[in-house]
Amino acid sequence: MSATRQDKTSPDRLAGLSYLNPAAPEPWASFVEQIERVRPYLGSLERWIETLKHPKRTLIVDVPIERDDGTVAHYEGYRVQHSLSRGPGKGGVRFHPDVTLNEVMALAGWMTIKNAAVGLPFGGAKGGIRVDPASVSKGELQRITRRYTSEIGIVIGPDKDIPAPDVGTNAMTMAVMMDTFSMNRGGTATGVVTGKPIALGGSLGRQEATGRGVFIAAREAARHLKLPIEGARVVVQGFGNVGGIGAQLFHEAGARVIAIADHSATLVNEAGIDIPAALEHAAAYGELAGFGGAASLDLEAFWRLECEFLVPAALESQLTAERAAGVHACIIVEGANGPTTPAADDVLRERGILVVPDVLANAGGVTVSYFEWVQDFSSFFWTEDEINDRLERIMVGAFGAIWKVAQEKQVSLRTAAFIIACHRALEARAERGLYP
Ligand code: GLU
Repeated sequence: MSATRQDKTSPDRLAGLSYLNPAAPEPWASFVEQIERVRPYLGSLERWIETLKHPKRTLIVDVPIERDDGTVAHYEGYRVQHSLSRGPGKGGVRFHPDVTLNEVMALAGWMTIKNAAVGLPFGGAKGGIRVDPASVSKGELQRITRRYTSEIGIVIGPDKDIPAPDVGTNAMTMAVMMDTFSMNRGGTATGVVTGKPIALGGSLGRQEATGRGVFIAAREAARHLKLPIEGARVVVQGFGNVGGIGAQLFHEAGARVIAIADHSATLVNEAGIDIPAALEHAAAYGELAGFGGAASLDLEAFWRLECEFLVPAALESQLTAERAAGVHACIIVEGANGPTTPAADDVLRERGILVVPDVLANAGGVTVSYFEWVQDFSSFFWTEDEINDRLERIMVGAFGAIWKVAQEKQVSLRTAAFIIACHRALEARAERGLYP
């Protein structure tokens, strides 16, 4: 069995692996609808709900660089601070050819909800550049990152807004961002970004944290439904830092990962995919295409696979109402941000499929980012066991609180997470009052 490379231009691929899914609403519209669903539960805080539908600050920057061939190229970059009510902005930076302001606004909004839902002392922010990192050289990418950091330098800082990795960025991107900000400031500021290399004030366990959090959230959901993880069938979309590590942890726990997908291939093996081998292949070639341990599968058939856990860990708006109608999973664990549209949420709820929402399921990354920021401030670094123990406690505590609200109010876990988060964000907003 071997996988063949998918045609990068086929409409199927665009519909499946890009948020430009024509059947899906724009991400910001989905976010606003999710906020609206909380309105009946806000009591007197309803007076402030519009706050969450208006990002506090939106910066669009031009990022010009000299390319290796001597020409000048321009890229569009963004930093959106959705809310600063509960603390500094916090959220990743995405480098992807499909990045738009609409998407970054939604991602910033989801950070506000995520940070509040798990109780981190941050607002919500997100950044991005519309660029395909694979289409530029290493030097060009570094120049793009440096110029972008300088341009957004007026709004970021250890006590203002702290970026981190997201799709298309990694620890090296953060090293360059930290260096650029520090050089402009005239002193090293490790706390301006998180997800840095360990040598620059990064935290142990940060790189694995999002995938680890996805697995903890899945395990907690399974515990509540009395579903064993051992032997469970798992389907994972996205095989990067979130999907890859999530798949690995399922595999280690004795689950059978029967299908995986990335931008290059959709693969199935009902007997269970050798995840360590797939990770090795992805590390060597940068993608799953060519991995020999599974067969190619049609993208739409992927969503219909019978399984216990379905883990969308790629991009937004992948699970539309149409796809949701064909899903055969017990639990959906959202590793990605915004993978399920509100219409799909309704279909899944009607069909009795439990959705563990992104703002809980993928909060492990930003939780360990918080630990990194705290460690940088105190210049005192924790062991990996301490980090993983604290991550476990926060994730399990947040899961339990959200589950309880969902039971009490008979709402989905997403609406329950939004109820808790909106209360926290809007209470801070109300108590701070309007200025001037
Ligand atoms: N990009 C990650 C997320 O979407 C991490 C953000 C952070 O660590 O600030 O949650």
